[in-house]
Amino acid sequence: MALSIGLNIDTEYKKLNEKLFSLQAPELFPEPELLLYNDRLAKDLGLDVPIESNRKDFALLFSGQQLPEGVELLAQAYAGHQFGHFNRLGDGRALLLGEHLTPSGLRFDIQFKGSGPTVYSRRGDGFATLYAMLREYLISEAMAGLGIPSTRSLAVVATGLPVQRERLHAGAVLTRVAQSHIRVGSFQYVRQYLSDEDLKHYLDYVIQRHYPESALAPVPAVDFLRRVTERQAALIAQWMSVGFIHGVMNTDNMSIPGETIDYGPCAFMDVYDPNTVFSSIDHQGRYAYRNQPAIAQWNLGCLAGALLPLIHPTEDVAIALAKEVLYSFDTLYATAWNRCMSAKLGLEPTDASLDIVNELLHHLEQLQLDFSSVFFYLTYSPEQLSTGLEPWLKKYRDYCKSVDTAESIQRKMQAHNPVFIPRNYWVEKALKSAAFENDYRLFSTLLSLYQQPFKKREEYLEYSTIPDTPSNAYVTYCGT
Ligand code: AMP
Ligand code: MG
Repeated sequence: MALSIGLNIDTEYKKLNEKLFSLQAPELFPEPELLLYNDRLAKDLGLDVPIESNRKDFALLFSGQQLPEGVELLAQAYAGHQFGHFNRLGDGRALLLGEHLTPSGLRFDIQFKGSGPTVYSRRGDGFATLYAMLREYLISEAMAGLGIPSTRSLAVVATGLPVQRERLHAGAVLTRVAQSHIRVGSFQYVRQYLSDEDLKHYLDYVIQRHYPESALAPVPAVDFLRRVTERQAALIAQWMSVGFIHGVMNTDNMSIPGETIDYGPCAFMDVYDPNTVFSSIDHQGRYAYRNQPAIAQWNLGCLAGALLPLIHPTEDVAIALAKEVLYSFDTLYATAWNRCMSAKLGLEPTDASLDIVNELLHHLEQLQLDFSSVFFYLTYSPEQLSTGLEPWLKKYRDYCKSVDTAESIQRKMQAHNPVFIPRNYWVEKALKSAAFENDYRLFSTLLSLYQQPFKKREEYLEYSTIPDTPSNAYVTYCGT
């Protein structure tokens, strides 16, 4: 009998066309051990927090070994453009436990990642390393702490089954919580492999789940595309404003509800260089920092392409209507970006604040300064700013005086400039100790700092710094 922790599973996805998923028995793991459990998130979801004596049961539940009564795991089918090339895909190493309804009636996917092979695994083994799952846990919680929409991490269970990568790793299952795992690539899959009738049903389902207002619009498909576009423009602007580089913005990794999803080779930029790329496989720099808005727009173009038959029966008309929405991305993004970046300077977004932001970024690039540190110093200790910024600083201060009080500006800056973001140097150190030496001290410290990143905790400031020779030469690996 499985542990009952307040899960209220009601999986509507299972009622959709059977070509959209595949039921899958869970993999048996030799020695599941609960390593992390997100008490706060559990509480928000209406779930129990683990009682020490229950850890074994939590481990069995969150590795799929003991499922709540009547629950069947399923892998979702999808497709996607990976580095520009269309592929048929699906959950190759993830299984949906189900859709959980919270006491307040919100619906969330609860998914196991690293849970074993599925019919969509292709050449992959279906497993995940503990190292990578700890990394996803830490960074997704950091994103949530920064107030950026993201999938969340509920638990990490070590499986006891080793996973072969560049070396032998401990294997783990991450329990991920998302508004849903419906992706741009989910629509591409339906368009490519199912009928137009199925596409209509699927859109109706997704609209009802995520964008119910669109159902009332004259052309729901256009309204839906517009709302997804708005959320993505806002999301990418938030990424840019904290220096986040996703690293693998394939269309299968772009979420329809607008959450940051699939933490593979992602990382935060240190020195401000818009060409920064961390992913070991992104040789062309397709997913470089500066390209993220354009790629999001390109991905939305793929979504639009998949929706065309639902936009208008005449293709030319459908394309014209879709283009109108897609072109609006530029303005939506520019507006969102100015809002985010001006707020970092304590300012309301205006044409003048935009100039000040752009000028500052120009200096950061020229002087090769650390992106987050400069905003931190501006907020807390301008005297620590590097030389070279004085003329800009004078101009900025004059502008500040003309628009607001110093106190109000500083308050705003404190609310928008994190003290603690995942620094590659510290993240790496914490993950190595945790995954390879079973020492979770640094990991726990960083996690608690990243969950409240705007709180300036003096005794931990060391973790907001970067090594003496800052660089963006960090390399991250996909799918590990
Ligand atoms: P990603 O871009 O990392 O989200 O993954 C792209 C595709 O590869 C998805 O369909 C994943 O399910 C699949 N995949 C990634 N890693 C593995 C693995 N270890 N085993 C099986 N499939 C995988
Ligand atoms: Mg993916």
